[in-house]
Amino acid sequence: MSKTRTFLTVVADSNGEVFEHPDLLMAGMNGLTLCRPEVDEMIPLPEGSRLFTIPQTPPIGFDRHSGKPRTITRLPKSWGGDALQAVSAFVTPAFTRTLLPAADYLNKPVELTLWSYTAVGWCIEEERFYVAAVRVDRNRQWEPQHFDDRKLEPLVRKRVASQPDNRLLEQLSRCALDYHCFAAKNLFFGRWEAPLPCSPACNAQCVGCISLQDEPKACQASQDRLDFVPTVDEICNLAIPHLQHAENAIVSFGQGCEGDPIMQADTVAAAIRKMRLQTDRGTINFNTNASIPDAIDKLAAAGVDSIRVSLNSVQERFYTPYYRPRDYCFADVLESIRRARQNGLFTMLNYLVFPGITDRKDEIEELVKLVEEYGIDMIQMRNLSIDPVVYWSALGAEGTGIGMKKMLDLVKQRIPRIQYGYFNRTREMFYPPGYQEDWPLPARL
Ligand code: SF4
Repeated sequence: MSKTRTFLTVVADSNGEVFEHPDLLMAGMNGLTLCRPEVDEMIPLPEGSRLFTIPQTPPIGFDRHSGKPRTITRLPKSWGGDALQAVSAFVTPAFTRTLLPAADYLNKPVELTLWSYTAVGWCIEEERFYVAAVRVDRNRQWEPQHFDDRKLEPLVRKRVASQPDNRLLEQLSRCALDYHCFAAKNLFFGRWEAPLPCSPACNAQCVGCISLQDEPKACQASQDRLDFVPTVDEICNLAIPHLQHAENAIVSFGQGCEGDPIMQADTVAAAIRKMRLQTDRGTINFNTNASIPDAIDKLAAAGVDSIRVSLNSVQERFYTPYYRPRDYCFADVLESIRRARQNGLFTMLNYLVFPGITDRKDEIEELVKLVEEYGIDMIQMRNLSIDPVVYWSALGAEGTGIGMKKMLDLVKQRIPRIQYGYFNRTREMFYPPGYQEDWPLPARL
């Protein structure tokens, strides 16, 4: 028998102190529509997650007595009358959020930072935070406890001293120490997935691009974009030792701190050829907007193993206003996916999830068609980081979805071979044993 759980709205005062509101039951949002969380989409706040306030944006919940929606701008006078702000969770990677925090986004005076906003509540019975999210990946290598900076710093110093003229190494040392990029840290720890950023340019202008935003703008890019193209040697001097020696070695082009590596397809292909002349070990992955189909053929011929194609939607009417492609169109992305599979690459979508868009009936139908027709192997369900109102207006969206958990279950029912995930994989783990039945994953592994 399932336990009864009551979730209260989590709010913050003007000093950022977070607490539960005793009179308000938790609500969530699917797109911009208020809803009650479903029992099976609420899980205890995963380890490594954080809470943060949504500035100048009052929370919405359901009145505990009348059951009606209420926007609360202030605490009662008897409690000091302070202004209230909504609270969001940043859910640790491996989990896909299913609801946005319920808040009065339409009247807020500020544009929100490029973070992924997730509904959080306070469970009265268990006295702990719960979030609306689903675990989609078993991999625990990206949990914060594996990234201890005290061990990292001497490794970074030693490695940089060994290649003082390598600009890419210098860049990644800053990514590891200043931006706390876990992938960059992996390079210096000599393990798992390491990044190979290589492109200052991009042929899209995503509304929520994390490496470049028009200035001045409230939703500033969270990272500075790489400003040079590394040489084949600069790339290979990092990639080859990693492929040769690292545990579960993956090297990945296409990072949050660059444009799109497809713009440097010739350099990347030359680097991959050189890597594969030196070693067969490890996995070479290419994260991209997949805008240039001919580049996919080149990269496949050079020896890339897997490709991850970024999409906020599988419908052109939502894709184009978000990606704002400059010299390509949605059909090119589809053609690239077709060629990736034709060339035998393990093909993944980097599906930028937003409740209210990803779980719409028309989106689900198109997704199922795409996965079946093009033979996509895996969908990485990654939370799109953006102000909900900015996204909603950019897309001209309307209506609601059926719920993210239902969407995930439905797609898996219709295509049992599809794999969900959050992270790139080594070649050995492309098709792990039992993957067809491996759903749903328990929230705690
Ligand atoms: S494809 Fe990537 S780099 Fe290019 S604009 Fe979009 S998010 Fe930014």
